[in-house]
Amino acid sequence: MKILVLNSGSSSLKFQLFEIKEKEDVLIKGIADGIGLKDSFILYEIKNKIKRIKKKIKNHREALKDVLDIILAEDIINSFNEIKAIGHRAVHGGEDFKEPVIVNDKVMKKIDELSSLAPLHNPANLIGMKVCKELLSKIKQVAVFDTGFHSSMHEKAFIYGIPYTYYKKYGIRRYGFHGTSHHYVSKKAAEILNKDYKKLKIISCHLGNGSSIAAVMNGKSIDTSMGFTPLEGIVMGTRSGDIDPAIIPFLMKKEKLSVKEIDDMLNKKSGLFGISGISPDVRVLWSSEKKGNKKAGLALDILGYRIAKYIGAYIAAMNGVDAIVFTAGIGENAFYIRERVLKHFEYLGLKINKTRNKNNETIISADNSKIKAMVIPTNEELQIARETFELVK
Ligand code: ADP
Repeated sequence: MKILVLNSGSSSLKFQLFEIKEKEDVLIKGIADGIGLKDSFILYEIKNKIKRIKKKIKNHREALKDVLDIILAEDIINSFNEIKAIGHRAVHGGEDFKEPVIVNDKVMKKIDELSSLAPLHNPANLIGMKVCKELLSKIKQVAVFDTGFHSSMHEKAFIYGIPYTYYKKYGIRRYGFHGTSHHYVSKKAAEILNKDYKKLKIISCHLGNGSSIAAVMNGKSIDTSMGFTPLEGIVMGTRSGDIDPAIIPFLMKKEKLSVKEIDDMLNKKSGLFGISGISPDVRVLWSSEKKGNKKAGLALDILGYRIAKYIGAYIAAMNGVDAIVFTAGIGENAFYIRERVLKHFEYLGLKINKTRNKNNETIISADNSKIKAMVIPTNEELQIARETFELVK
């Protein structure tokens, strides 16, 4: 069965066409980028070859048309009837969408209403769905939500310590994000360990530009570090993560900042970038640290320390842990961050194998470690394809 996965952002459209049989193959994948901007292009990979087409792409409709033309021109399919379903990444499902759903007008209206909770993402995701409805009206569309995997959280994990009425009035609660990634890597960890997913306690650390940590117990997310928005949790590239909320009115008064300005400061000028004053990228910070830059070293230490504190909290939440999994750009590559994190769990019998860790191997703990530490590349598109397949098969 062929499934097309689309991730529609404000100026980009990422796509992957999967063939799902006994195996799961990627037939073509790529991105139409710079949509509506001056320098737009399509970059795609087919049969291990990368191709780039520079072209003006006015809007998402044109982008999808171009992508479909490429899929036909590359002879991957003879007609669009061969595509059984389209799986869309949708960021915010609020409390309405706990599972993937077939997209129809009612669903699109609801996703639109939820835009107030994810103003940068939901409208862009919605454009992808509308364009598909127009150009590929006969093909079933499925929306898979970033928040969906975390809908299993108990109230005690998702209610904030502010008046309960704001939860009822505005839906202010923890939703969590990166759900498809946490779901994918935690399940994959169980497969690799050859254990029953439904009987494991896993802590999944998705560390990329945005980062979040999730406690996955018996196959379900019971807590996660991102909250009402993707700003909460650990320190990120340019996002602050957790801070004392009283800092916000204090700074607004002292620096005479508007709501937009304080929001920008917390989202775009904070985190590793804000602390170091150098870069949001851990690679740059690590090389600066080695050259003796103290603030770069401090930023990396804070990152490792904050991740460790969340892991510690989630070990308590689950009353134990079987495996700690690292994924995404930092999690998959930055052994110097993983090392800083994992040294905090020696008291639980977690032993790191330094060579494996340096080589980004799948299992980076020592053979006699009581807790497994793992590196698993995430694959959100594959997870969306699988969930779409399950719904339409
Ligand atoms: P996104 O959240 O946008 O999907 P990624 O998961 O690609 O981001 O993560 C991007 C971040 O991962 C970069 O900012 C960088 O800090 C880090 N990163 C990427 N590649 C490496 C690498 N080889 N070594 C260390 N860190 C890396």
